[in-house]
Amino acid sequence: MIVVMQENATDEQIQGVIDRMVALNFTVHRSTGIVHTVLGGVGSEEEINPAEFQVLDGVKEAHRIASSYKLASRGFRPGGTVVRIKDVEIGGHTIIAMAGPCSVENRDQIESSAELVARAGAKVIRGGAFKPRSSPYSFQGLGPDGLRMLRDAADRHGLLVISEVMDQTQIPVMSEFVDIFQVGARNMQNFNLLRELGKIKKPVLLKRGIAATIEELLLSAEYLLAGGNYDIILCERGIRTFETYTRNTMDISAIPIVKKLSHLPMIADPSHGTGRRDHVLPMARAAVAAGADGLIVEVHPDPDKAVSDGAQSLKPEQFSELMSQLRIIASAVGRSV
Ligand code: PEP
Ligand code: MN
Repeated sequence: MIVVMQENATDEQIQGVIDRMVALNFTVHRSTGIVHTVLGGVGSEEEINPAEFQVLDGVKEAHRIASSYKLASRGFRPGGTVVRIKDVEIGGHTIIAMAGPCSVENRDQIESSAELVARAGAKVIRGGAFKPRSSPYSFQGLGPDGLRMLRDAADRHGLLVISEVMDQTQIPVMSEFVDIFQVGARNMQNFNLLRELGKIKKPVLLKRGIAATIEELLLSAEYLLAGGNYDIILCERGIRTFETYTRNTMDISAIPIVKKLSHLPMIADPSHGTGRRDHVLPMARAAVAAGADGLIVEVHPDPDKAVSDGAQSLKPEQFSELMSQLRIIASAVGRSV
């Protein structure tokens, strides 16, 4: 159930509603917006009549949420969520670019990557240290050594760090080095991992599963929110369809749909979405035009020598071109880069 408090509701009135919800066995999630405080009650709704809440002091409206995800629904935060990390805001007016190689390979590679993505205007460097590879014989990542290299390079160039977490045992070591935990497509429904990430205080980027519906993506986000972590960013990275020309089918329509259904920021990954560097730029433009709050893009100083995902990794000059074009698209949709 969602209870929207009146603009001038007092702390006492808000507390009164919270107490009533708790008495009815709801877990209460409070969202303090600029105008309204919204209280999201998660629990069994079978016997609750919203009318009972509509008449409480300070209440503007109360209603049941029909969808199975509640805290992820737009109604919980109608104004939208902005995830703030240091001086970077994701979900605000500015389109945020996260860029870097698929994997951290060595110090030189990650240092040149940081230098080139920062110069082109990215705010976050990406790079996997724990890699989910389809084959157990492929490069599996440098682990904690890779994370340290990534952090050092990021700090030298004023960038934030995003890297993929594959299971809950990696959370403590990763917390030392990363600003954003990435949950990969293969782990979107790893509910034990999601539960643990719901308990921490760092932002999480949740990628859409390879064959996940939009509803399943939002339900996975709900696991994180229900744990009390509200700094969640969603990511469209392409889904598997009958089409074989591209690695995945980039579902651009998911962007406006998710923005309508949910308050969470949504970014796009045109690299995994297409699997081919010649198609990354047009899909990046399309994603921003469709309302994405940012992009995560694979860029490598020398993609033909990349140990993973070289074919979809942009060359340095292609990434600079992408950023220049984004500035034009962003301003056409009333945003900036
Ligand atoms: C990645 O970002 O390198 C990655 C493995 O992404 P996804 O989980 O979307 O396949
Ligand atoms: Mn990759």
